[in-house]
Amino acid sequence: MEETALRRTWAEIDLDALANNYRQARRRIGPAVRYLGIVKADAYGHGAVQVSRRLEELGADYLAVSSLDEARELRQNGIQAPILVLGHTPPEMTGQLIQLGLTQTVSALAKAEAYSAAAEACGGTLRIHIKVDTGMSRLGFLVRGRHFAGGVTSIAKACALPRLEPEGIFTHFAAADEDGAEDEAYTREQFRVFLLVLDALADQGRTFALRHCANSGALARYPEMYLDMVRPGIALYGAGGDRERLGLEPVMRLKSCVSTIKIFDGGTDISYGRTFCTKGETRVGVLPIGYADGLFRGLSGRMAVRTAAGPAPILGRICMDMTMVNLTGLPEVRVGSEVEIFGANQPADELAALLDTIPYELTCAVSKRVPRLYLRQGRVVERSLRLLV
Ligand SMILES: *Cc1c(COP(=O)(O)O)cnc(C)c1O
Repeated sequence: MEETALRRTWAEIDLDALANNYRQARRRIGPAVRYLGIVKADAYGHGAVQVSRRLEELGADYLAVSSLDEARELRQNGIQAPILVLGHTPPEMTGQLIQLGLTQTVSALAKAEAYSAAAEACGGTLRIHIKVDTGMSRLGFLVRGRHFAGGVTSIAKACALPRLEPEGIFTHFAAADEDGAEDEAYTREQFRVFLLVLDALADQGRTFALRHCANSGALARYPEMYLDMVRPGIALYGAGGDRERLGLEPVMRLKSCVSTIKIFDGGTDISYGRTFCTKGETRVGVLPIGYADGLFRGLSGRMAVRTAAGPAPILGRICMDMTMVNLTGLPEVRVGSEVEIFGANQPADELAALLDTIPYELTCAVSKRVPRLYLRQGRVVERSLRLLV
């Protein structure tokens, strides 16, 4: 990767912050509970290979991704930890799942039958985790209300199929990260239904080594729901509403630098659509970052970037590749000065709140043309660029 690209716009990934966040969770769950690190969507934009390597070193028990392709990327880069594929994989790819030593989520009896037949055809055994829908209403065996008995029977049948090895069973919470009595009641009801399913299956002699349901929200709020393994994502990356409660540090810092400075007279329109006009003489910095890098256009005129000398408000509309900021009163900031979009000084959560969204969306949106710099003890230990240069 060319050095020149790095002084434009980049994301620093602090592997020590990642380690801190992992250890904070470990301390909470204790030695008996296993830790599955969620690294789907390129580890929420942080780089799945690098994050998984660090998690392996730290002793994480399991990883999870959303698709076979994401899992293959990890295996091709030497990741040996067990990997759970959370989403659907076409049954005709069963041979690859087995070959790569992956664990497939199974969310319905028909899918289990297809995987079983495919595994039989290729002469292997597929490790599976059963997904139970207790209230997320997305993937999973239906078990609520009138579906309970039928759901339990279907799960038992799926687990008894040849060439499937049912190692685990899980459910996913819809509102475990929300505060308030109603959402707490909803989460507790989801957990209660999950336990009922486990009991009913145990009555038929079907037990699982890995029962899991706790995402980051449940990690922070519901220790009684840890069961055999927790599954945090956003808490690993040091974002989300529970970051203070859990003692987390943000892992990603999105940075850019001032490429040009211009002094405009009062009455000058700035950027597309002329949404901002200078009141008096204004010292304007141009940053080589725009919405194509992951700086949401919806933040136009609503936020400031952080400079060493203080905040510099964004002026006018964020463009595809560039953004203008007000440097009036910040004479220390010069061409080449570094600015932080989000990170240690301005949490991604704060920008997410301005956009009425969640920090997940901001880190995931940092695009492939933004190089990632991996840091340990403040030093860059690896650089990676997803652009095929
Ligand atoms: C994404 C995901 C998680 C992690 O959720 P966070 O809110 O980031 O902790 C856990 N489990 C499943 C099934 C997921 O899809």
